[in-house]
Amino acid sequence: MTALLEIRDLKKHFPIHKGVFSRVAGQVRAVDGISFHIDRGETLGLVGESGCGKSTAGRTLLRLLEPTSGQILIGGEDITDLDAKALMPFRQRMQMIYQDPYASLNPRMTAGDIVGEPLTIHRTCAPNERNERVAALFTRVGLRPALMHSYPHEFSGGQRQRVGIARALALNPALIVGDEPVSALDVSIQAQIINLLMDLQDEYKLSYLFVAHDLGVVEHISHRVAVMYLGRIVEMTDKLSLFEAPLHPYTEALLSAVPIPKSGARGRKRVILTGDVPSPINPPSGCHFHTRCPYAMQRCRNEEPALREVIANHLAACHLHDSGVRLPLAKAG
Ligand code: SF4
Repeated sequence: MTALLEIRDLKKHFPIHKGVFSRVAGQVRAVDGISFHIDRGETLGLVGESGCGKSTAGRTLLRLLEPTSGQILIGGEDITDLDAKALMPFRQRMQMIYQDPYASLNPRMTAGDIVGEPLTIHRTCAPNERNERVAALFTRVGLRPALMHSYPHEFSGGQRQRVGIARALALNPALIVGDEPVSALDVSIQAQIINLLMDLQDEYKLSYLFVAHDLGVVEHISHRVAVMYLGRIVEMTDKLSLFEAPLHPYTEALLSAVPIPKSGARGRKRVILTGDVPSPINPPSGCHFHTRCPYAMQRCRNEEPALREVIANHLAACHLHDSGVRLPLAKAG
């Protein structure tokens, strides 16, 4: 079956300009060759610390940023080089929900106009049907249609995120990229928004790329999880395998910080990551993670580990697995 979304060796580098002639003095390798697919009705969680490139990956695959190289396929069709006009029908199928719903909603427009705007731009329903459609979207995301006449500042954070979700749903998309969609919300509201997204997925067979810095947040909603570090995917598998038996030391460290009793992180020794994520302008040689990895060997400094299938459907990029070593190495003692 053709995946709804497939990206192949996607790169997004930002040039750094210096001097009076704006000479290109280097590149920020925000996304540095990532590949994955998302099936219909599936959620892929994309996690990593801030600055690892996950949000840039989400924006690039939606063509909100132009990729440096690689391929983006929607339903098997390559959209990487399509011009704005040819991209239009695909734009309807791919929507985004942002981290900060307040910043992403025009404060001068009513919530009803915000949700109805995509319908007007894409002319998907007659003007006299627009209000009815917007009211139905409000109801579906748990907002009273009477709130269509209110402005963003009159809503709570959770309500604003519901407005953002209604806007994303307006054009009946197949794929929604959520860029840290619950990170700015209180924990109790986070659960409500995640449950709403899961209900909508069941109802409309939506596919999600759910970007988050917190593994605890993606655990509930994701079917599979990809872990990113400095622009590359270092581990990818189904949720259960990742939480129960991670194969990459970076995932192991992230998991050991998850305070959720339900997860496989329980009973694991805390692995403290020292130092910040290195700069993507000048990433460490070999394995990018070697400067912070508690298991780093000489080989790790010189040779980049390939992302490969270590066990069935479980990919990891780590030299440890060439010598037959299995994580977790750091069980509670
Ligand atoms: Fe650590 Fe080496 Fe594996 Fe990188 S390749 S994660 S440095 S053990």
